[in-house]
Amino acid sequence: MAYRIWCGECSHRTSWLRESEAEQAHIDHYVAEHPRLAPGGRIETNEKSPEGGTGCFLVLAVLMLLLVLPATCQR
Ligand SMILES: [Zn+2]
Repeated sequence: MAYRIWCGECSHRTSWLRESEAEQAHIDHYVAEHPRLAPGGRIETNEKSPEGGTGCFLVLAVLMLLLVLPATCQR
């Protein structure tokens, strides 16, 4: 499974990466381009997930927020 995350603010998207790498690339993009915003956008996968993507996406979005917000506040 490969992941690509689309920016919620502009037309940027990460390249196809492993999940953790795509998340980091997405966060790096936000830090560089949208430093005052919490990362948003959507995750695209290159294989169909048998468990459905929506729930997985929501979990990932929450996890990303939990990971990013403390780091953003410290900067
Ligand atoms: Zn962007």
